[in-house]
Amino acid sequence: TQRTLVLLKPDAVRRGLVGSILSRFEAKGLSIAAMELRTIDAGLADQHYAEHVAKDFYPPLRDFVTSGPLVAVVLEGDEAVEVVRALNGATDGRKAAPGTIRGDFSLSNRENLVHGSDSAESAAREIGIWFPGL
Ligand code: ATP
Repeated sequence: TQRTLVLLKPDAVRRGLVGSILSRFEAKGLSIAAMELRTIDAGLADQHYAEHVAKDFYPPLRDFVTSGPLVAVVLEGDEAVEVVRALNGATDGRKAAPGTIRGDFSLSNRENLVHGSDSAESAAREIGIWFPGL
């Protein structure tokens, strides 16, 4: 079994899609190991997105992820990292396949509703940031 860090970003909370998105993860068989609604500051955004802070798209991404409450979740299950990324779909909601969360609910490359850790190593790092002590 494996754990992964998922964010239901502020667009998911604003649009009232938290329940619908969580349902998909639960229906797939993943279980919730930790969950919290919180509004983050730029410092936490920079830590989470350490690999992106120097990129052109980062300043608006930082503004977006700090723009309101988001839901941070640790999901657990067999191959949870890869399974969550498959359920999330491609980064750009305009290109993501129908049937995926982004493909069904997002028309944006930035406001794409969800984050999922991209490897087991990233998951361990991110869970340490969001849920220290878990
Ligand atoms: P995540 O890491 O959030 O699961 P991802 O791995 O599909 O998504 P990354 O390339 O790690 O995507 O980018 C992180 C986030 O930065 C994306 O989810 C998206 O919100 C934003 N982003 C990435 N590329 C762009 C871009 N070209 N323009 C605007 N926003 C972008």
